[in-house]
Amino acid sequence: MTTVKTIQTIPKGRTPMPQQDAVVRAKNFDEVALGYALENALREADRCIECKKPRCIAGCPVGIDIPGFIRAIARQDMRKAYEVLRQDNPLPAVCGRVCPQETQCEIRCVVGVKAEPVCIGRLERFAADYAMAHFEPEMLSITPTGKKAAIIGSGPAGIACAADLARAGLDVTIFEALHMAGGVLKYGIPEFRLPKAIVDRELDLLKQMGVKIELNTVIGKLFTIPQLMKDKGFDVAFIGTGAGFPRFQGIPGENMNGVYSANEFLTRVNLMRGFRHPEYDTPVGMGRRVAVIGSGNTAMDCARCALRMGAEKVSVVYRRTQKESPARAEELHHAMEEGIEFQWLTNPVRILGNSDGWATGMECIRMILGDPDASGRRAPVEQPGTNFEIPADTIIYALGTRANPIIAKSTPGLKANQWGYIEVDERTGMTSIPGVFAGGDIVTGAATVILALGAGRRAAKGALEYLGISPAGRPAETAAAKA
Ligand code: FAD
Ligand code: SF4
Repeated sequence: MTTVKTIQTIPKGRTPMPQQDAVVRAKNFDEVALGYALENALREADRCIECKKPRCIAGCPVGIDIPGFIRAIARQDMRKAYEVLRQDNPLPAVCGRVCPQETQCEIRCVVGVKAEPVCIGRLERFAADYAMAHFEPEMLSITPTGKKAAIIGSGPAGIACAADLARAGLDVTIFEALHMAGGVLKYGIPEFRLPKAIVDRELDLLKQMGVKIELNTVIGKLFTIPQLMKDKGFDVAFIGTGAGFPRFQGIPGENMNGVYSANEFLTRVNLMRGFRHPEYDTPVGMGRRVAVIGSGNTAMDCARCALRMGAEKVSVVYRRTQKESPARAEELHHAMEEGIEFQWLTNPVRILGNSDGWATGMECIRMILGDPDASGRRAPVEQPGTNFEIPADTIIYALGTRANPIIAKSTPGLKANQWGYIEVDERTGMTSIPGVFAGGDIVTGAATVILALGAGRRAAKGALEYLGISPAGRPAETAAAKA
């Protein structure tokens, strides 16, 4: 007779994630969280009480059958666990590492009412990593439709859209501005949070499905979308160009040497392998004292990269408090463990520099929190007379990003809102131009990987509907055990 699991019968505490020691990891770029071993995963999977009405699913932006994949892990059917995940999420190994589960599925987990919620993200990562290590993707035959799709941008939105369209038999080409595919997954999120090999494996799967990737191709400069559609014979196009345009404060001194946007800093470190200079060509040119402005995931990534690049002191400066910080709780916690200093309720008012034009620090002012602003968060208000200086040779702006205007400017008839984000039909993802779709950060503004994936898939469905093609019934690649 099987005993029914209840919150009373399961272990109350979550199974800890093995991780590198904080002192050791602050000096290397290896992955911080090491992943569950089989016995950890089985213990944690056994904490899921398989609710009749699983609230966790409603918290997942792409509706993964969470109890379904956890049940498969508990039964040690890892192939099934992976297949359940891939039905709704084309990048489970990525999302298992970077999704903000604590504010999505895990916050709704029923177990969390009386004990610690089930570690859904850690189990997702386990199932995906297990499949990568033990199974080989089996390609299902794809029936060509004779239709061509252009995907602009190779971030998670573009990858998800390309995968679904290729699976349905379209001839798909991804055009990517940079010399490497993957979008923020490659140039933004550092190796110690998301190893590049994980993203490369997903891109390899796409290529095996026949998707072509053209690098170093800036659409809007080299070709425009009208040219792709009229001259190059693409039947549909998807815009997944992200929101990578940097944002500054507009205070004096921002043009000094040593002041970076987060994107430039992270691209130098991650994409150009600046952390292995001089073995790789691109220097990062970072000083001993680094100040990062902002407190989101991007700011944490910059601060933790700077530490690993050898900075002696790294300070994060944020005008609100830790409570309002938009970074994932885990990333904040890891940054604190590693020795990053946080200056809460602090705002820079001027970048200081020497006569050679190099930054030497920032003049800052202390803030207090006033009434809620349009974002619903309490607005920071300056406290007169509290100015002070933070010495810094490198200052990194991580204040969020904006839409790059190239596509909107080069595409007549493409509707964008006042901030440059492209307007789409919510159900199909179609823009104001028939046959042209969009999704991800270029529509929503800076958001999350899983939302970009969901938008890419929704647009693929919309594109197939537009072309009158039915979506493939099941994924083109399923995990099949190695011989
Ligand atoms: P992107 O990933 O930005 O990809 C867009 C791609 O389009 C890029 O490769 C770009 O080079 C290319 N492109 C742009 N213009 C053109 C053009 N004209 N022609 C051709 N190609 C073009 N989210 C999470 O869920 N968890 C996290 O932990 C997390 N951490 C983050 C850390 C950092 C440093 C950053 C910057 C973001 C982070 N995010 C995180 C947010 C998340 O990465 C993004 O929301 C997501 O990548 C958006 O996907 P996308 O496909 O819309 O765009
Ligand atoms: Fe399992 Fe929690 Fe989802 Fe219930 S809510 S099915 S316990 S993960």
